[in-house]
Amino acid sequence: LGKAYSFMVRNRIPGGKMTAAQFLGELDIADELGNGTIRITTRQSIQLHGVVKGNLWDVIHRINAIKLSTQSACGDVTRNVCCCPAPLRHNGLRDQLQRLADEIAVHVRPTTKAYHQIWIKDPETGAREQVAGPPSEPEPDPIYGKAYLPRKFKIGLALCDDNCIDAYDNDIGLLGVTEGETLIGFNVLAGGGMGTTPSKKQCFPALAKRLAFIQTEHLLPVITAIILVQRDFGNRADRSQARMKYLIHNLGVLAFKAKVEDYLSQAEAICGVAEGTVPRPLPQPHPADVTGHDDHLGWHEQGDGKWFLGLPIENGRVKDEGELRLKTALRILFSDHVTNARLTAQQNILLCDIESHQRATIQKVLADHGVVTVDQISNTRRFAFACPALPTCGLAVTESERALPGVIDEVEAELRELGLADAQFTIRMTGCPNGCARPYNADIGLVGRSVDGKTGEGRYTVFLGGNLIGTRMNAVFKDQVPRGEIVATLRPVFIHFQENRQGEETFGDFCDRIGVEALAKVGQAV
Ligand code: SF4
Repeated sequence: LGKAYSFMVRNRIPGGKMTAAQFLGELDIADELGNGTIRITTRQSIQLHGVVKGNLWDVIHRINAIKLSTQSACGDVTRNVCCCPAPLRHNGLRDQLQRLADEIAVHVRPTTKAYHQIWIKDPETGAREQVAGPPSEPEPDPIYGKAYLPRKFKIGLALCDDNCIDAYDNDIGLLGVTEGETLIGFNVLAGGGMGTTPSKKQCFPALAKRLAFIQTEHLLPVITAIILVQRDFGNRADRSQARMKYLIHNLGVLAFKAKVEDYLSQAEAICGVAEGTVPRPLPQPHPADVTGHDDHLGWHEQGDGKWFLGLPIENGRVKDEGELRLKTALRILFSDHVTNARLTAQQNILLCDIESHQRATIQKVLADHGVVTVDQISNTRRFAFACPALPTCGLAVTESERALPGVIDEVEAELRELGLADAQFTIRMTGCPNGCARPYNADIGLVGRSVDGKTGEGRYTVFLGGNLIGTRMNAVFKDQVPRGEIVATLRPVFIHFQENRQGEETFGDFCDRIGVEALAKVGQAV
């Protein structure tokens, strides 16, 4: 027998925007050709797990049949473009942002026909498209050239008062700056990225650097110029140094910015705008910065007479298990009551465009299937999320998705006892240092490091001092903490927080103010 290869298949869903029919289509594919679950990702997409090799073509074909795609959802290319997904239409700002996200997603999509030739059937004949004649020399992509990028590349758009997609974690973060209710342009942030290899000293996670302020109409040429610089100067010799953050670190922000300016003419030509359209030098960043974060959970009036419901999905996993029949509930809702969905960067889902009179029915369907809404969970659970890790991620060192709910149970008990149940902070857990759940700017980051050879228990690095709004890196508090000791390790810090918190100071702000070295001593004293 040959090896039984199994794949994870990831969709590309810009801004996490999808119809009910598409969501139902994904559920069908998961049930018929996957492991019966779907996973909402931290980049507002959907992953299907457990797709065996023999079903791969059918899965990708069917995803395209529901008018979604997997093209450039993985690989050394611009991945799924993230954007605040909330359908808030009071002032048009989010609609504008979402339209721009769609435009960017189309602009950075590779032009190769190979994807369609390999994965899409001819709708008339049912046969696969065939490449005519012998393979020809591939056409260079206008943005990616012949060799594509040295490494994956991520773009996200947010507003200053709502950094729900973690703009600073992207290769290019676009932070919308507003005056009143008018979008006046974007602060361009460059060089964010959460992955690292702890054994290599030159590797590190990083928040993006503030590069420039640009007018909205200059977004595409500036984005293109940045990608071209990374394409031509990013490290192709050492994959661990290939993300753009290392290029910026090695060159310095000013030299990097000068290179971007050098590439603007080429970028303008690619975008079909007149040379010199974008001002040189690029203007300094606007002083505006991130001030808030909104996970969009609960009921909200959209501003157009309709409502949306932000539904927490634990670790993004849509499944039926025991009393919780989330998958069945969503099937009923998307079949009979809800027409549109948006996926959030916290792995939750927004049920959109709901009429007032439908709200009670929707609540009942959820309750009947054991699905909890945000008012029924603690703040600790609300803001926490984990990457998949074991058993579906081949890079995982430790458990993550399956371990985090238990950790949260214990944290909840501690916080209740200390009278801190209302505290707002985010715990993010990953099964390896690659950082897919953005653990390095969380208030509490738990990163899988090793496994006890005898017991099989995972050990984690505990990071403290990030923040919910995503603007500060955390720092190592303790390394190699066994899973069973994580909450005991945090307990003295929670007590110190309760006794020494200043006003409404958040847990992350407190840890940052006190410092991890001092907090480690607190831990030893208890
Ligand atoms: Fe896999 Fe590591 Fe990413 Fe988790 S952080 S999904 S374990 S690569």
